Amino acid sequence: MFNIVLFGAPGAGKGTQAVMIAENFRLIHLSTGDILRKEISTGSELGELARQYTDKGEFVPDKVVIDIIRSQMEQNADAEGFIFDGFPRTIAQAEAFDAMMTNFGQRISAVLALEVETEELVKRLQIRGESSGRADDLSIDVIRNRIKVYNNKTKPLIDYYSIQNKFQHVDGSGDIAEISERLTARIVDLKDQRSES
Ligand code: AMP
Repeated sequence: MFNIVLFGAPGAGKGTQAVMIAENFRLIHLSTGDILRKEISTGSELGELARQYTDKGEFVPDKVVIDIIRSQMEQNADAEGFIFDGFPRTIAQAEAFDAMMTNFGQRISAVLALEVETEELVKRLQIRGESSGRADDLSIDVIRNRIKVYNNKTKPLIDYYSIQNKFQHVDGSGDIAEISERLTARIVDLKDQRSES
């Protein structure tokens, strides 16, 4: 299996890019945000719980997303690999994820981080809110809170994965096609390195 984590702040373009990468490299796209939004839209118990956090731009409890990822990986045990989008987002999630991967006899090949300036993130999220109507993109306060939560809780993962030699920056500015080219080139390199070793 070939497993990649797509990392970055809200609005960095993870979702858009992950869909394209999944298709090009035949990976299963696992977005905890998408899965939670689906649960919210069906009004499930899990959705009701998640909404209390997502509406405010806070993280849902670690256990909720860890269980989602575990169950998705179990359901796709014969996949060629996964692209994780929006997970892990805390140190506790990353630790549980490492343990889970070891249990599955798997590893994360790389964590690719899309780098975008903060004000550009805010602009992108506001534009997305206008077209998608996503509740957490419609309020500037919620947008700013999500960026704050990212800085406090998710940024420490940069060190976590750097120590494991897995963290790689990718310029996330520019248009969708440009960013996709950069990411694709990086993934091709990673796959080449893997087949050489
Ligand atoms: P996203 O679509 O990835 O921006 O996620 C939307 C919202 O879902 C986030 O603002 C969080 O409230 C929640 N969420 C998604 N993934 C996670 C995660 N790994 N840990 C905690 N909360 C998450």
